[in-house]
Amino acid sequence: MLSLLDFSYEELEKLLGDLDQPKYRVTQLYDALVSYKSPDEVTNIPKSLIADLSTKYSFQPLSIYQERKSKDGTIKFLYKLLDGNLIEGVLMKYKYGNTLCVSTQVGCRMGCKFCASTLGGLVRNLTSGEILAQVLCVNAYLGGTKAKRQITNVVLMGSGEPLDNYDNVVKFLRCVSDVRGIGISQRNISLSTCGLVDKIDKLKDKNLQITLTISLHAPNDEIRRQTMPIANKYSIKEIIDSAKRYFNKTKRRVVFEYALIEGKNDSFECAEMLCGLMHGFSNHINLIPLNEVKERGLKGTTRHRAYAFMKKLQDNGISATVRRTMGEDIEGACGQLRAKVLSDTQ
Ligand code: SAH
Repeated sequence: MLSLLDFSYEELEKLLGDLDQPKYRVTQLYDALVSYKSPDEVTNIPKSLIADLSTKYSFQPLSIYQERKSKDGTIKFLYKLLDGNLIEGVLMKYKYGNTLCVSTQVGCRMGCKFCASTLGGLVRNLTSGEILAQVLCVNAYLGGTKAKRQITNVVLMGSGEPLDNYDNVVKFLRCVSDVRGIGISQRNISLSTCGLVDKIDKLKDKNLQITLTISLHAPNDEIRRQTMPIANKYSIKEIIDSAKRYFNKTKRRVVFEYALIEGKNDSFECAEMLCGLMHGFSNHINLIPLNEVKERGLKGTTRHRAYAFMKKLQDNGISATVRRTMGEDIEGACGQLRAKVLSDTQ
């Protein structure tokens, strides 16, 4: 069943226009959807219209199925979709606001060895409305409204490869930043990809102000191929070249994610190789000690070593930080909570 959240504002205008509804109904309905109301909760629109719409379209394509609060304030959500599939999200509280990490697919087919999202392969793409619903649902859960948002930042770093679900993700980016809706600034949105070069090239021409984040995790192709199957399709050189084109077109700094894996990619030699890639465009490297995934037998570098690696990059004039790990006590890393719930219930 399609959701009304799958409609852009203009598409909703057309839908209601075809039903001979007055123009102000569009704003009323859009406001109700942004507040993540169920049909019963919408009181300012004729009941007959709501009944008609709700037989054809869902208002709430997902609901919170489980939540876990970490000592550091992070909340991990498991949502249930209407077809029974589960996806997850993480809310991180910072001084400057709340960041929600959203999923773009049920499962993932990229097969990265360190990532729990990929363990069962790809189940299906999420629609743009199902991605948007994660933001609206948690905003409402936190007591936020359209006028007073509780979610200020969004990162597409939950389960799934956003650029493998390109059309729905681009539509989501437009809808979530629409000022008639929840209106989250595109500058506060990061899209993380394992580096689908052809799609990065398409995205750069979309006139979006989002931050492109590329999961590099290795300084050369040989090491990258050991953990990321996508490295067999695109070389690091091709990825860096596409990042440069993205920067030249959008003038947005490109961020690289680099998960430090003990004994694999965390030597000073690796740091030096990495420095060699970061020339000719504006960039930043986010280091994070790998969150251990037991099924895969890969371990994270110690924080001490992560800081030494960071220092090596900085000494070479590269902008780099070690990311705080949050929510480790609640299966914070991608796909971990869903993987745990699925294995507990099977
Ligand atoms: N498919 C996208 C986005 C999803 S994952 C991508 O590849 O970027 C978001 C980030 O978490 C990616 O950088 C991913 O490589 C990283 N990640 C996955 N598993 C991890 C783990 N166990 N520890 C640390 N980072 C992990």
